[in-house]
Amino acid sequence: MSLAPQASAPPASTSQPLIVLDKVCKSFGSHEVLHDIDLTVDRGEVVVVIGPSGSGKSTLCRCINRMEVASSGSITLDGVPLPQEGRALARLRAQVGMVFQSFNLFSHRNVLDNVTLAPIKVRGIPRKQAEATARELLDRVGIGDKADQLPAQLSGGQQQRAAIARALAMEPKVMLFDEPTSALDPEMINEVLDVMRELAASGMTMVVVTHEMGFARTVANRVVFMDGGRIVETAPPEEFFANPKSERARDFLGKVL
Ligand code: ADP
Ligand code: MG
Repeated sequence: MSLAPQASAPPASTSQPLIVLDKVCKSFGSHEVLHDIDLTVDRGEVVVVIGPSGSGKSTLCRCINRMEVASSGSITLDGVPLPQEGRALARLRAQVGMVFQSFNLFSHRNVLDNVTLAPIKVRGIPRKQAEATARELLDRVGIGDKADQLPAQLSGGQQQRAAIARALAMEPKVMLFDEPTSALDPEMINEVLDVMRELAASGMTMVVVTHEMGFARTVANRVVFMDGGRIVETAPPEEFFANPKSERARDFLGKVL
């Protein structure tokens, strides 16, 4: 099963990383929330970001899709600096799929509309085609029978899978997940993680903020541990979990494992 056929054939011209953050800082007033973040994400790579609450994980995601503007430093996506505004920014947003803890579906539109609205409005895809693609995506995330329902008629896990389908409908180059299972009842967590696993296996580039250490161990190519607005440690999961180098990472793992 391929959740993201568009991700399986990266442009042959580019072997450069898909995302490059270079000395990114972000302050809110005098409060520096991200400090000198250097991070590259390769095509097809799954980077799992972990760290205590308030360490800057969400802000990092929001800077990558430019919902927040970095105070200094640079971020490039596919070799192109993040645009400032206007159509270029809208195009960038279309390339970066984002899935949040709170599913953020349009509550008064059915699931099919939720998945087709942006492709039709932003990408100019004809409705028929957008609907056909949306139905395929809903099948792939296992809720093909929910197309005509309103979000409130779905379980939390189904809503989150609808949100994933909605993001995929834009054929993004990368998917950002910010604690996608934190608001879910335990029995629904795995159905969402399974969809994310399959997406990773299909070759999608993913940045995933999560407290699901099992997912980090088994799916991540790299774990990034953040604390206090800094990347404290970056390592392959087997190395990170077996032998965290920093005191802060050991302390964090002691609390969550
Ligand atoms: P995490 O996702 O790791 O819990 P966040 O990125 O949400 O961390 O937050 C990091 C820090 O930035 C926190 O201290 C938070 O209060 C602060 N922060 C986040 N967003 C804003 C904002 N819009 N205005 C002011 N402070 C913010
Ligand atoms: Mg957060």
